[in-house]
Amino acid sequence: MPRAEVTAFVALGANLGDAAQALRDALKALGETPGIRLVRASSLYRTAPVQSTGPDYVNAVAEVSTTLTAPALLDALQAIEDGAGRQRPYRNAPRTLDLDLLLYGSARIDSPRLTVPHPRMWARAFVLVPLREIAPGLVSEAALGAVDGQHTSMLEPNS
Ligand code: ATP
Ligand code: CA
Ligand code: CA
Repeated sequence: MPRAEVTAFVALGANLGDAAQALRDALKALGETPGIRLVRASSLYRTAPVQSTGPDYVNAVAEVSTTLTAPALLDALQAIEDGAGRQRPYRNAPRTLDLDLLLYGSARIDSPRLTVPHPRMWARAFVLVPLREIAPGLVSEAALGAVDGQHTSMLEPNS
């Protein structure tokens, strides 16, 4: 019997090279990965680096439907990062592509390589603003209010 599909949300970010193009390519790669269906993607947003350096970040959030387990989905996300030339010289370094698993159904996961829901998502406007665009029921006004000192602005509306 085929595995049931699970709805998951993925945060995308990049701040090196053509970051907007890196995100468009990553969305395409997500949708082309066996076991992952791209349901919808947010607009692209621009955010000044938070606890990081370098050029502004481009961020987005995607909803996917997947038959992969959460660890297998993380493997797929990391393979797409590697394909975009992601290097990890030090923590919070500028990056060509960062894909974080925000939510995997209603699962709570706390393993050495995977924590879901993503533990820092509620502190980040660059996650909550695009997430609210595609899943308004998941992000309350109060949640958004908690990050309203951060500046995230729309760069490119989703077509
Ligand atoms: P942050 O998690 O604060 O956004 P980051 O994205 O810069 O930081 P990375 O260097 O990309 O951190 O990832 C470090 C490790 O985090 C990964 O190797 C992965 O095993 C682990 N990790 C734990 N939970 C998650 C998750 N929900 N999504 C993606 N990676 C996760
Ligand atoms: Ca991240
Ligand atoms: Ca990451």
